[in-house]
Amino acid sequence: MRKELLSTFVADSRFERQIKGLWPALKGSLAKINKPCIRKYCAACQRGDKHPAWILTAAQKGRRRCLYVPEELVPTLQQAIQNGRKLESLLCAVGPAIIKAYRSQRDRQKNAKNFASKS
Ligand SMILES: [Zn+2]
Repeated sequence: MRKELLSTFVADSRFERQIKGLWPALKGSLAKINKPCIRKYCAACQRGDKHPAWILTAAQKGRRRCLYVPEELVPTLQQAIQNGRKLESLLCAVGPAIIKAYRSQRDRQKNAKNFASKS
């Protein structure tokens, strides 16, 4: 892609604005589990209720990492996961948009040349 076309695309792009509104973003999954605790005589564990906890699973350099998530961080991470999904689909749309911008600029230049040669 020619440099001036790329800068035109970046300057005009609605993508930049949309991406800015999607931070923080993350890729991973959040799951609620029930786990037993280490206390010897825990009423909840003896009842079989156990203790609710949140786990974030994310792949880093091909390795899966699982981390406990403090309850108060859950809404933030849920929002970040949603943002991550939107960001991903936005990134998938950028390639076709660049090609479309290239084609329409090329066609405009072609039309301008034709117009110039006719007059
Ligand atoms: Zn317990």
